[in-house]
Order: sequence, then C-alpha cells, then structure tokens
Amino acid sequence: MVREKLIQEIIGKNKFLARFKTYLDFCPNYQEGNPNCHNLPTEQHVCFSCYCPHYRLDQEHPEGDCEINSPKGKWFYNPNIISENRRIWDCSDCDFMHTEQGVREFLKSKTEIELQEILEMSPEELRNNYYQERLNLDFMLDRVIGKNQNQNP
Ligand code: SF4
Repeated sequence: MVREKLIQEIIGKNKFLARFKTYLDFCPNYQEGNPNCHNLPTEQHVCFSCYCPHYRLDQEHPEGDCEINSPKGKWFYNPNIISENRRIWDCSDCDFMHTEQGVREFLKSKTEIELQEILEMSPEELRNNYYQERLNLDFMLDRVIGKNQNQNP
C-alpha cells in the first residue's frame, strides 16, 4: 500500500541515526551523536518532530491536555501556576512522538499527497511546519506559568 510505504519512508528518513551525521548544525544532540532528550535506545529514536502535535492548550483546555491521553504525561503542580487547579499538563517524561509507533499513528490520518510532501521536507522544513504552532503554544504557556518557569511539552 502506497501510504504505508510513504509512512515507513518518512520514519526511516527521520530516525536519529539517519539524520545526525548529515545535519550536524540542526541539533546539539546531533553533534554529540546521542539523542539526549529522551531515554529511548538511540536506534529507536525518531526525530520527526521535537514538538508534540498532541498537546492541547486553548480555552477548552486552559491547563493543557494530551489529546491521546498518553500515560507518560502527568500533571505538574505549582502554587505559582495561574490556573484554577494550580497545575499544567507536563510532558517531560513522554517520548511517544519520538517512537516509530507515535509517528506512525500521527501520520496515518494524512493523505497520500500530504505524506509525499512530508517525505520531501528537510529537518528545517519539518521544524518550520510546526514552529508557528509552537510559538502560539509558548505564548499561551507564558501566560499560564510565567516566562521563567521552564516546562517543555
Ligand atoms: S508529549 Fe506525550 S503526554 Fe504530551 S501531549 Fe504529546 S503524547 Fe501527550
């Protein structure tokens, strides 16, 4: 099936081991030759997206939320957090979007044309594709937890 083949090619192209020698300037972890951001075995680590597309933070989810209810996420509580329950959804222990399964499940709703476009994207283009969403998210997070508290969903 063409879509399955495209998904497999996207995953293969964006594995840490497939990328790191070619794009040394893209990520400090590439220069170190080790995907330090999560504890996944190096050969299993997929760098498709640094930013999780499943994170929700909007008027309906003012404390953040995971749209797929990953068991690796958790609530982070702090009295300084400006939300009703003084908490925000914390993804720092979740590696789902760096696994083959996570990327596959994210891509399976894409059309064949979309998958073809994604396959042709460089790491920079992939990052830019999600960057605007990330900027919006950062803006909202700043309002909830303050600029000096470092959360990384
Ligand atoms: S990083 Fe994990 S817990 Fe956080 S939104 Fe994404 S899938 Fe859910």
